[in-house]
Amino acid sequence: MKKKEVIYRLKHKKEIEIIGGLLLIFLAGFLFIKLSFSFELKGDQLLQLSYKDHYEEEGATLSFFGQDLSKKIKISGEVTDGKVGEYKIKYSYHLAFIPFSKTRKVSVVDTEKPTIELVGEKSQTMCPNKEYEEEGYRATDEYDGDLTDKVEVVQEENAIKYKVTDSSGNTTVVAREVKKEDTTKPTITLTGGNVITVQKNTSYKESGYKATDGCDGDLTDQVKVEGEVDTSKLGNYKIKYKVADSSGNETTVERTVVVTETASSAKGVIYLTFDDGPSGSGSTSKILDILKEEGVQATFFVTGSGPDSLIKRAHEEGHTIALHTYTHQYQNIYRSVDAYFSDLEKIQNRVKSITGETSWVIRFPGGSNNTISNKYNNGIMSILRQQALEKGYTYFDWNVDASDAYECAKSSVTDKKGCVYENVTSTLSKKRANVVLMHDLKSYTADALADIIHYAKENGYVFDVITKDTAPVRFR
Ligand code: ZN
Repeated sequence: MKKKEVIYRLKHKKEIEIIGGLLLIFLAGFLFIKLSFSFELKGDQLLQLSYKDHYEEEGATLSFFGQDLSKKIKISGEVTDGKVGEYKIKYSYHLAFIPFSKTRKVSVVDTEKPTIELVGEKSQTMCPNKEYEEEGYRATDEYDGDLTDKVEVVQEENAIKYKVTDSSGNTTVVAREVKKEDTTKPTITLTGGNVITVQKNTSYKESGYKATDGCDGDLTDQVKVEGEVDTSKLGNYKIKYKVADSSGNETTVERTVVVTETASSAKGVIYLTFDDGPSGSGSTSKILDILKEEGVQATFFVTGSGPDSLIKRAHEEGHTIALHTYTHQYQNIYRSVDAYFSDLEKIQNRVKSITGETSWVIRFPGGSNNTISNKYNNGIMSILRQQALEKGYTYFDWNVDASDAYECAKSSVTDKKGCVYENVTSTLSKKRANVVLMHDLKSYTADALADIIHYAKENGYVFDVITKDTAPVRFR
């Protein structure tokens, strides 16, 4: 300290003491006044509200020695309803130059997460060799509105994750399960069908196939074909077609190739066939008598009715016992594939128990392309035709119709015998094998038979029986 200053302070000591005393008194008064006031906020000083809530001003209380001065408090600041933010409400009062104030902090917040809606399946399986194509999504937030643009899409191994955060930092994550796997087998379609008939001693040529797979597309050139057809030997041959897709799903289909007798060898041949018998009324035995006398053999497509003895006789006399149906009830046999074959097995068993031989020659009631079956099971005939061949049967329709059960059976036809004779002889042809449809239940058919045989013999036709190896005559 310099000399001059010390002298000054000594000189003014008194004044300094007075000012200091006054200041102390003032301070004490100020504190006294301040402390004598009671100033309180009503409700919380720190308040958190949802933006959906309305801010209700609760106010504050002020009293001085028991005197309520609350009404004199000035409130400033406000909270905007529905808007997220930090707000301050100020409560103030001035006693002369002495200020009193308090502040309330109001946080208006949004704590609700946005929602993400996915378009398309939430869980799906797709081909391993394909990329997932986004089907779409929509993100909305009650506070921010549409947030679709802000969605982050992350591709993970077995899922797509969608993430979005709203302006208040609330995050939503939604996942779409996208499994990459292929468990579906490829499909092989055989051109020309699952059963193909080829004539003996001709060359067998593959008629083609196509393989497709849901994931891999066309796999035709990867099909392996196994099996051989020896067209010099009659019989059923199996050709296997195999293909696997890139995920190892394998498909095998089989084609049956039936090698039959050449059709050309049967030109000018007549196969007399009799359906629906045997009949115990006499017509069947009459027919057998005529055939015996003429030295002609025929084919009987028998049913479950009539006496066993007639089947036995026909078999012993060299005729073919073929299978028609056990019940001949369309509504029963064409109800289902199982129903058809169970009926067929019944007649097959009957014949075997009488002849000791298993017959594989069949004729579908109504023919192989009948439409009456559609009434009971639409489209069943194509399945039956295919399955019959696969099971080893051969089926025959006809190309000469005596119409003895239809046209000639009408009461308006007086000369029934003539009707049958005319229908058969007018349709016979030397350029092909002739399969003649007749019914041994009809007496007039028996009556017409001898004349038909005479006509055929005079015109150079020969008769034969149908066997499993006869070149088939079929509608389909
Ligand atoms: Zn019939």
